Amino acid sequence: MGSIHCEHCTGHCCKYLALPLDEPETARDFDDMRWYLMHEGVVIFVEEGEWYIQFATTCKNLTPASMCGVYETRPKICREYKAGDCDYSGGSYAYDHLFTHVEQIEAYARETLAEERKRKRNSRNGKAKRSAVGVRRQAG
Ligand code: SF4
Ligand code: SF4
Repeated sequence: MGSIHCEHCTGHCCKYLALPLDEPETARDFDDMRWYLMHEGVVIFVEEGEWYIQFATTCKNLTPASMCGVYETRPKICREYKAGDCDYSGGSYAYDHLFTHVEQIEAYARETLAEERKRKRNSRNGKAKRSAVGVRRQAG
């Protein structure tokens, strides 16, 4: 917070926190994500290939006037946040994916895990074919 934009904003950027997540690979990983999304105020998003979990929770330092109560000693992450490209001033948030409901991550998991099974099957078949060719060559 701290630009001209901030004077007209109620502190959107101070009302959530987002933490990185490992990219889900297994059915168990996706099941954990289903559980995250069963909680109020939790969303999962993917931005530039990186996965994040976001919690809607207001910083205790945000004053009733929507100002930072610890402005001089605010954490680095707050200092680095660019007001010109933020939630309020219309920053471009090009999410690769945004999951707000369990059903969305379930559908994504079904698709992703099915593709992964197909990829493994094709890879196994490819190896089997190559080894069959190898056997024929040896026999010939
Ligand atoms: S969302 Fe943007 S305008 Fe609002 S307080 Fe944060 S940096 Fe300032
Ligand atoms: S420390 Fe200040 S700028 Fe940072 S999130 Fe809290 S209120 Fe906002």
